[in-house]
Amino acid sequence: CGIVGYIGQKDTKEILLNGLEKLEYRGYDSAGIATLNKDGVNVSKVKGRIAALREAVNENVHATMGIGHTRWATHGAPSRENAHPHQSTTERFTIVHNGVIENYMDVRDQYLADVELQSETDTEIIVQLIEVLNNDLNDVAAAFRKAVELLTGSYAIALMDSEDSETIYVAKNKSPLLVGLGDGFNVVASDSMAALHVTDQFLELMDKETVILRRNGVEILDPNGEKVSREPFTAEIDA
Ligand code: GLU
Repeated sequence: CGIVGYIGQKDTKEILLNGLEKLEYRGYDSAGIATLNKDGVNVSKVKGRIAALREAVNENVHATMGIGHTRWATHGAPSRENAHPHQSTTERFTIVHNGVIENYMDVRDQYLADVELQSETDTEIIVQLIEVLNNDLNDVAAAFRKAVELLTGSYAIALMDSEDSETIYVAKNKSPLLVGLGDGFNVVASDSMAALHVTDQFLELMDKETVILRRNGVEILDPNGEKVSREPFTAEIDA
């Protein structure tokens, strides 16, 4: 169970696959990545090892942003369908998640009665909820914050909007997640190990904070939507 995300200038697949390999020691049953370029989102996922994911990834797809995941199944059997990334029905939104959403059945019953779910995971509820809320609010940042507000349990989340190639949305509660800072790029990772191949500068995140991750900036918001300022720390390579 791990997360890595990148938004920058370089081709993303290798950065994500390298990051996921660094997380393999934590154990997992499936893995996947999604990248976004001007042609849209490209999702590759497998039940099994990162080596199998490498085989599944299309080498001809180039993108400068993406998210990746290793899954340790809690809701739904280990399978390709239940592997992350998960997408909303229209495929506009794509998410990776570590943790357990405790109230996912309540959220499903209250907000997603009309949605045909594609997996057995608690995670899919999050991405479908964001789409439904955004249909109302027409403001992805607001829909993201509202969704996070409605969820109980543990989560580290990274979300892409296929209509916005400038932003990765990030949130965490009771699951580890860090932002890594670069020059012209930024990353998100559940463990600094997954990002030390691109940076050693990290921002700690507090529970219930949300983050807007862009190529040239990082905005951390507290649960009230107020901007938070925070100094980075330097991670030790042998940490
Ligand atoms: N609860 C989610 C699932 O079962 C995420 C598990 C994880 O942290 O890898 O898919």
